Amino acid sequence: MAYIYDDQNIFAKILRGEIPNRTVLETEHSLAFHDINPQAPVHVLVLPKGSYVCYDHFALEASDAEILDFTRAVGQVCKMLGVQADAAGDGCRLIANAGAHGVQEVPHLHVHVLGGRILGRMLPPAE
Ligand code: 5GP
Repeated sequence: MAYIYDDQNIFAKILRGEIPNRTVLETEHSLAFHDINPQAPVHVLVLPKGSYVCYDHFALEASDAEILDFTRAVGQVCKMLGVQADAAGDGCRLIANAGAHGVQEVPHLHVHVLGGRILGRMLPPAE
């Protein structure tokens, strides 16, 4: 089954410059900006500029240049924000929600970079 991309999603509008954002980093194929409703002291979203619904869509269909650019952008953002997990940083959590079970709100791939505090367990216990 094909992935269906809705070009009216809010991140598509941000990428087209129709809605403002607080940019952290822009590269040829990627854009990173602060989340409008931060869940941690650091909460930045990193997006590929291409029309990819979710991570699996991107990983399967993006060009090598897009994948390289996006992967490096995530690393650069972590370092810029001081949440890289090297000797100088305190670490972070990267989240890419996908689809219904992943409870993805905006259907354009984005990786959440969360940090600035201890983030607790990855998932709450199953009910
Ligand atoms: P998802 O649930 O799709 O993984 O996360 C979507 C994220 O996008 C949420 O954390 C939400 O706060 C953020 N968000 C939604 N609308 C906007 C917006 O217009 N601008 C920014 N910067 N973030 C947004």
